[in-house]
Order: sequence, then C-alpha cells, then structure tokens
Amino acid sequence: GQSTAQKQEKNHSHHLHPFSDNGALKEEGARIIESAQGVYLYDSDGNQILDGMAGLWCVNIGYGRQELVEAACHQMKELPYYNTFFKTTHNPAIQLAEKLAEITPEHMNHVFFTGSGSECNDTVLRMVRHYWATKDQPAKQVIISRENAYHGSTVAGASLGGMKPMHKQGGLPIPGIVHIQQPYWFGEGGDLSPEAFGLKAAQALDEKILELGEDKVAAFIAEPIQGAGGVIVPPSTYWPEIKRILNKYDILLVVDEVICGFGRTGEWFGSDYYGLKPDLMPMAKGMSSGYLPIGGVMVSDRVASVVQAGGDFNHGFTYSGHPTAAAVALENIKILQNENIIEKAKTETGPYLQKRWAELADHPLVGETRGVGMVAALEITNNKEARTRFDDEGTAGTICRDFCFKNGLVMRAVGDTMIISPPLIISHAEIDELVTKAQKCLDLTMEYFKS
Ligand code: PLP
Repeated sequence: GQSTAQKQEKNHSHHLHPFSDNGALKEEGARIIESAQGVYLYDSDGNQILDGMAGLWCVNIGYGRQELVEAACHQMKELPYYNTFFKTTHNPAIQLAEKLAEITPEHMNHVFFTGSGSECNDTVLRMVRHYWATKDQPAKQVIISRENAYHGSTVAGASLGGMKPMHKQGGLPIPGIVHIQQPYWFGEGGDLSPEAFGLKAAQALDEKILELGEDKVAAFIAEPIQGAGGVIVPPSTYWPEIKRILNKYDILLVVDEVICGFGRTGEWFGSDYYGLKPDLMPMAKGMSSGYLPIGGVMVSDRVASVVQAGGDFNHGFTYSGHPTAAAVALENIKILQNENIIEKAKTETGPYLQKRWAELADHPLVGETRGVGMVAALEITNNKEARTRFDDEGTAGTICRDFCFKNGLVMRAVGDTMIISPPLIISHAEIDELVTKAQKCLDLTMEYFKS
C-alpha cells in the first residue's frame, strides 16, 4: 500500500477541505482516518484515537453497527433511489415520517425531508415565509437569530448563523435576518450572575421585536444549546424568559435540533429537555448517526395545516427522503429505542460523564466546566477570577486540541473553549480514558505557556 505521506500528497493535489486553512493543511498533512469501531477511530499509521466528538456530533450509536450496513444494503437492492416530488413516495419515507412523528413532541406530526442540516435551515427560511404569506401577512419576513449560532453553510444557513468569519466571506447575512446576543455567561456575562445575565440575554429578543415591529418578525431560531459556538449551555433563566416573550407575540419558534436531537441531552430532543414547543424543528446528524446523509424539518400541526392549505410549496431536494438514507435512519432509531440508549444517557452515562468532566474544573487552566447529558465544554483561562484568555486568537485551545490528537483523543476547540460530544454508547471506562487524556493535555498546554 501507499505510505501516509503519499496519500497526503495526493489528497492535497486534488482535495479542498471544508472549514480548513488549505494552504497550512498542505504543509502539515491531513490526518487520514481509515476505519472505526465503537468510540474509536484508526488512522493510516495504525493509531487508535478516542472520538470525543462522535465525528461532527453525529455518530450517536457509535461506529461499526452492522444492522445499519444491512439496512442500507437491503434497501439498495430493493429501491436504491427514488424521489418524493410530484405526488410520489416510497416505503422508507412513509415509515420514517411515521416514526419521527412518534418520537418528536406531540404537536409535531409532519416532516419535510432534506439531505442535511443546512438544507433544513434553507427549508425553514422558505417555509416560515410561505406560512405568513399564506396567512395574508407577507410583511412578516424577518427571522431573529443569535450571534455565534451555527445553522449551516449554505447561504441561508450561514446567514441564519451568527458566525462573523462566515459572514465576511460572502456579504452575508442576506436581508431579513438579524442577530441578538447569545447567552454566553463565561465570555460575556461580566459582573452579572449567570441568572441575571440569562434574563438580560433573553430580553434582547423582546427589545429586537419592538425595534423591528411585531408585524415584521416571522420567527426566532435557536439551538437549545449552542453547539459549534462552544456548547453554550444557557443559564437556567434563559429559556423560560424566551418562552414568555414569544408567548406575547405572534412569532414562530424554530428550534434547531441538528446537534441536540436524537439523544444528545439525555432526552430525545433538546426541546424535551428545556420544555420548548417549537413550530419548526430542523434535525439531521444523529437521525442516521451520520451513517448516511439525511435531515428533516419537523413541522408542527399549526404550520403543517397552513402549508397543506397553501397550494404549491416550490421547494425540495433530489434527495428529500432518500430511500436508502431513510432506511438507515429508521434502523438507527430502532437501535436507539431497543437498546434504551437515550434513557441510559440520561440516567447513567450522562451523569457519569458530567461528574468526571466537572473534576477538570480544579485544573489551574480551567475557568469553567459545563454540560448537559452527553455534551460538555470547558473554558481555558489564564485567570480563573477575571475569566481572561492568554490571547484573542484562541491559541491555547488550538494547542490543547493538537496535544489531544497526538495523545489519541479528538476534542474540539472553539477559540479557547474545549468541547466534547462523544458517541452516546461510550462506556464508563472509555469516559475515564477521555477525562485522563483531557487532563494530561491541559497539563501539556500549561507547560507550553510556562516555557
Ligand atoms: N444546525 C446546527 C445546529 C448544526 O450544528 C449544523 C452542523 O453542524 C447544521 C445546522 C448544519 O448541518 P449540515 O452540516 O448537515 O448541513
């Protein structure tokens, strides 16, 4: 076979990577992941790496489940592909839609299928506007989102997202999308208590609605816990206040469940965890545990009835409801149910992970640990009291992340925030390994800044 260096050389001759500095990557060489089993990845040099991120927050049932392979194989033989446009459907789409209606909140009984989370959020933008236009309120166009939110990489997804570096690339956001403060206490809470800050961040929604005019605002979109923004677990006061504000106005709530959905919080959906009643719910990732690309926007009865009465909805994707992906998603959900994986995440694995993770708060470099269920974060700081950073570039986070990878752990860095989101099926011994390695890499990071 070819050496890692040879493969890297070929890769960089022909492959431009997402969310990467492709110039720097050419010098460093990309990591080549060749196989995976359970929570472990294996690279082209034979290293075993604990995947503390479940890929991109998606491999909820872990790697290597043969049932999903067989479901795909069976469906490919039967009907590998057909579309759901123009009044056609097929068995996997019918069955998956029924299953999603069963596991999502009670008032949500319809799904609009997509191929990804980004496509979900494009769908959201158009469905929300279609909804208000059908209700004879076409002026309700504006969607309020939050700074530092991540809602995908398409033009609409990146516009709904609140990531400044993504906006710079293409003159985004597109018109009709505005952003309010995120509920990020460690970074932005100043002298306020987390509870007081949570209220203040929520009240920014009320202020923005009043500024724009209630008759102009179509929807508010948010992740239950901001994921790619750094696992921003909102203070306890945040969601109740958001709910109170939304109840005052006739504005739709879009809860982006692309990360939180399918068990990440220890509940089926983040909406269950926070007691939210979404009008629309984008989902992807954990829907198939990432084994095949599939997503869907779950639609409430209120919105579905208007869409059904609204005539043509001129929107859809070649792969909306893709039969093979749908068959794999169905099998994935069956495994989540039959093996009580989400229940265990709530009562056993999650509490153990959070307990062990919280021990890292004693480390001299750690200003805060936080988490819910099977997702967690810690903040690297050079001053625990003042909550300050070594620099503005997130150098400490990058260094810590690189130490992790060298020591056989995937942990993600968002600036100086280190985050984990492991497969839900991780064992207690594997959690111990994760925390031990994280500790060691924090030590190495501290040594780096001392020298
Ligand atoms: N929404 C959220 C909350 C996400 O975290 C992501 C991806 O990370 C997306 C949407 C976009 O999903 P995709 O990458 O499948 O387009």
